Amino acid sequence: GPWQAWAYPPPKSMGRNSQLQPLLVSTPQQCLPLPSQSLLYSLYARTRLGYLFYQRQVKKARERYPHGHSVPQPYCFPGVKILPIPVLSNNYSYLVIDTGSSQAAVIDPSDPLAVQAAIEQEGVILEAIFCTHKHWDHSGGNEVLCQQHSSCRVYGSALDAIPRLTNPLADRETVTVGRLTFEALATPGHTVGHMVYVLDGGPFGSPPCLFSGDLLFLAGCGRPFEGSPETMLASLDVAVGLGEDTLLWPGHEYALECLTFASLLELDNPALEQKLQWVVQQRQEKRSTCPSTLGEEQTYNPFLRTHQPELQEALGLWQAGGEDPDAFRARVLKEVRRRKDLYQAT
Ligand SMILES: [Zn+2]
Repeated sequence: GPWQAWAYPPPKSMGRNSQLQPLLVSTPQQCLPLPSQSLLYSLYARTRLGYLFYQRQVKKARERYPHGHSVPQPYCFPGVKILPIPVLSNNYSYLVIDTGSSQAAVIDPSDPLAVQAAIEQEGVILEAIFCTHKHWDHSGGNEVLCQQHSSCRVYGSALDAIPRLTNPLADRETVTVGRLTFEALATPGHTVGHMVYVLDGGPFGSPPCLFSGDLLFLAGCGRPFEGSPETMLASLDVAVGLGEDTLLWPGHEYALECLTFASLLELDNPALEQKLQWVVQQRQEKRSTCPSTLGEEQTYNPFLRTHQPELQEALGLWQAGGEDPDAFRARVLKEVRRRKDLYQAT
């Protein structure tokens, strides 16, 4: 997530905010469990400091991974091409192309150079940017791309401060780009205005494609920075409701770390073990692990398994007499989250 940025020293010129520098320098490694009320989160999400750190993050990642953090594998169905673009140290942007008209949309363009290179290589016209949420590692490329593609529209929730937003979307609203149809679904929790986008595969004989941003990862889930466990649970249920054949295209390459954590929670889950073995192989060769399907996610992703007695037992949680089932599942989700944060902090 955005906390990658804090692993680096802050920029030299911090202007009037320079009194913050000692605080930032003393911040330990990334991946601390930071509540949304914390000062660091507010700085990242709501001030120019967040942008400065994002710029540094982009620069570092370009040096460290000149060809991207992973080997992208395009996914093609007759009439549609989905190109994952590995950006920063573990983010994915996605270029979605209507191959008939060469019109394209990009999901979460964080590094505008990498996205522009893909646009040029594919020879497509950028019609739309879809932003899942405001965090810079998902929206930081909007500005530059809009300058280069003056007719490009920017979609997202009006509840998130998305740079250059031109077309605020409501829950369940659809947008067409050439022959591509995307449906926006409000999925608050990680941020108040978080949205996911579902590409209708029908016209192409393909399953639906879910671009999940920081709602859902392979075997993982985004931190609920701006929502309660109940809110996050409801948003995850929206995703699961899309159906088992739906392809999951997440905002980050977190598969190895998420599955390793999951395997410590559920010690006897063959589906999980099998997926972990496959992911280890993929990552040894720097290959991308997406897409998975929502069907398989429900067999190993602990954040989608809050209803499973095996997981509840492993966590030492039991439904209280008269406790609402969803309230109990939210409690399970909260405990999985707590353990994941502890796991990452060590
Ligand atoms: Zn985020």
